[in-house]
Amino acid sequence: MKKVVKFGGSSLASSEQFKKVGKIIRADESRMFVVPSAPGKRFSNDTKVTDMLYSCYGAAIREKKFVEQLDEIHARYQEIIDGLGLTLSLEKDFEIIRENFSKKIGRDYAASRGEYLNGKVMAAYLGFEFIDAAEVIRFHDDHTFDEDATNVLLAERLKDSKGAVIPGFYGAAENGTVVTFSRGGSDVTGSLVALAVKADLYENWTDVSGFLIADPRIVKNPKSIETITYKELRELSYMGASVLHEDAIFPVRKAGIPINIRNTNAPEDKGTLIVEGTCRQPKYTITGIAGTDGFASVTIEKAMMNSEIGFCRKVLQVFEDNDISIEHMPSGIDTMTIFVHKDEFEEKEQQVLAGIHKTINPDHIELESDLALIAIVGRGMRATRGTAGRIFSALAHAHINVKMIDQGSSELNIIVGVRHDDFKNAIRALYEIFVVTQI
Ligand code: ADP
Ligand code: ASP
Ligand code: MG
Repeated sequence: MKKVVKFGGSSLASSEQFKKVGKIIRADESRMFVVPSAPGKRFSNDTKVTDMLYSCYGAAIREKKFVEQLDEIHARYQEIIDGLGLTLSLEKDFEIIRENFSKKIGRDYAASRGEYLNGKVMAAYLGFEFIDAAEVIRFHDDHTFDEDATNVLLAERLKDSKGAVIPGFYGAAENGTVVTFSRGGSDVTGSLVALAVKADLYENWTDVSGFLIADPRIVKNPKSIETITYKELRELSYMGASVLHEDAIFPVRKAGIPINIRNTNAPEDKGTLIVEGTCRQPKYTITGIAGTDGFASVTIEKAMMNSEIGFCRKVLQVFEDNDISIEHMPSGIDTMTIFVHKDEFEEKEQQVLAGIHKTINPDHIELESDLALIAIVGRGMRATRGTAGRIFSALAHAHINVKMIDQGSSELNIIVGVRHDDFKNAIRALYEIFVVTQI
């Protein structure tokens, strides 16, 4: 049995947190490959080391003083080293970092040092081998990710290892230039390592007991999801449930390796298992609810539009010509509505309206902004009648006006559009009806 274990920033924010992590790893000898993030927040208005590094490097490239900021970062690691009773010194590493910052070596390099240094501390603490991700995670010269080279390098380097720490978030191009994934990218590194070593399980340890049915910042103490499929997870992640980096799914999914989201602060909880398929019946009709704010809608009215051949195509062409992506498009007999991202649309609004007037000569166009979309996702909905009805009644009871409802053809999700002001209450009302009362 081989497991890859990735620990997020809050799991490694202090020596206290490191001790919990050490206990978890030592409790199971199959936890052989460890992927750490940089130290995260210790309390809610604390700053993540990654953000400290970005800001410190920002000062360096503006040729402002940055050494003090670098010393503050060093102090974060020193607290961990001292708290764990290690003799490790990062003095030399910080000297090199200081020189490289002065040379303006690159923003990605700067950010990557958070994981690099935490990996060194972690390896010293566990007595595991430290492997610099720059040697095994490969990017092309144009800084896009090189999947094939990475898999070969990782598999070769790890094949005889009995315990290794590979820092998350970064790698390097062939010429040595350090490149990072996008924010939250340590999840991706964990997944790549799991694929390369053909792990039985990829454990992703964070600060919540798994993927929760709704965002814990909106719903108080939401229940966690026991088992979720990759498809369901994609729908929820796309709509803003951001527990796992979107790209972390693909490598393990291809190899059929399940992901288990676990809580470092409550290791006895089983967390959430993410799988390709399951015959386990979900506990509730829905698996999860997620939503995103910041949409606008364009409603076009024209009598008999349905019988006009090519009508939709002409409308969509206007959006395409203006380089605007469309999120949803519910339609009636004489109306169609197009949901777009507000930020993207706002700048080009007048061009789009002029384009629509010119191409299809509508009777009326109505614009609405400050909309939110909520996805209600669940493989269980296919076998249950009346889900849309329950959604309507839950929202009506909460005095929320439904601007749109759209059922995906996979019957895996229903998307509801509401006003921005109703966004949080709508999520709470949906959670209440599907999970708390289950009527
Ligand atoms: P890490 O630093 O361990 O990678 P993240 O901050 O990236 O952790 O992800 C975990 C956070 O995601 C949680 O603390 C929580 O605030 C947030 N979150 C948003 N939606 C959900 C959800 N549906 N389930 C669980 N957590 C969620
Ligand atoms: N430390 C990086 C970030 O804050 C990567 C990660 O935590 O996964 O985005
Ligand atoms: Mg994360």
